[in-house]
Amino acid sequence: QRQEWAKLVDAPSVSADGRKFEIASNIGTPTDMADVLKVGADAVGLFRSEFLYMDDSQLPTEDEQFDAYKRVVKVMKGKPVVIRTMDIGGDKQLSYLHLPEEMNPFLGYRAIRISLQRQEIFRTQLRALIRASKFGQLRIMFPMIATLEEFRQAKTIFNEERQKLQADDPGIGDDIKLGIMIEVPAAAIFAEAFAKEVDFFSIGTNDLIQYTFAADRGNECVSYLYQPYNPGLLKLIKHVIDAAHQEGKIAAMCGEMAGDAVALPLLMGMGLDEYSMSSSSILRTRSMMKSLDTTKCAELVDHVLDNALTNEDTQKMVKAFLK
Ligand code: PEP
Ligand code: MG
Repeated sequence: QRQEWAKLVDAPSVSADGRKFEIASNIGTPTDMADVLKVGADAVGLFRSEFLYMDDSQLPTEDEQFDAYKRVVKVMKGKPVVIRTMDIGGDKQLSYLHLPEEMNPFLGYRAIRISLQRQEIFRTQLRALIRASKFGQLRIMFPMIATLEEFRQAKTIFNEERQKLQADDPGIGDDIKLGIMIEVPAAAIFAEAFAKEVDFFSIGTNDLIQYTFAADRGNECVSYLYQPYNPGLLKLIKHVIDAAHQEGKIAAMCGEMAGDAVALPLLMGMGLDEYSMSSSSILRTRSMMKSLDTTKCAELVDHVLDNALTNEDTQKMVKAFLK
């Protein structure tokens, strides 16, 4: 099996019936790029920029960030690199930011909510990203978007910083695509409105499942509520993918579910375009994708959504399908 997988390094990610998809890597630091190259990922679908903020006792400078982003973008040689802006808060605390203590950190002051309030931090990051975009195909993604106004504000700030940089460097950042994580149910439910304004979606199932089932993703006592195959959740995901496609936009996924073998035929059947996962899952997924026919996967999705009532029902149906 390993030998078969080795042949798939740098191979295209296609289904049995020849539909092309993208299988991408999630990374946490530029040093993870060695693994990305080893498996020949089609893209970097999620670069979690938090490490820049967590590794130090003060905020990273614009140049420090620029260096890190540039390194990753350059290594990918023109393949897409999706960099997510600061997703601090929730379980990721930064002592030097002096954030208030909260009763419900996961429902509190985090990610884009901090970025829009502490704009000096956000603007520094955006400038570093815009500058690094000269070295490849860099895309920017905002985490924890719940409302259209949040996205519009973030986009306005991005446009302002880009315009300032363009005074010295005309055209810089002109082709940067702006996307959002779909990880808050309010955004998933209203995906049709967001799809008109963003360039792409990336479904963050780790948080989307946490918030949809109201179950802390790190709490063992409620881990049975992590239900990626629950038909209600699958409907929500399908709605997001359909909404993106309705507007001609890319639908990606970068939560754990994107690299899950039971979820794969369902997601292919829904037409999800990009699957971003840990590099260690890429060859296994590419191999499995090659054996799956998208028309049959779409039939499976219909069958599941018409008949399954529980997470376990879906699991059984997919396993029968795979046999
Ligand atoms: C997610 O929420 O699914 C996600 C990819 O982001 P993180 O795990 O970093 O919260
Ligand atoms: Mg998340």
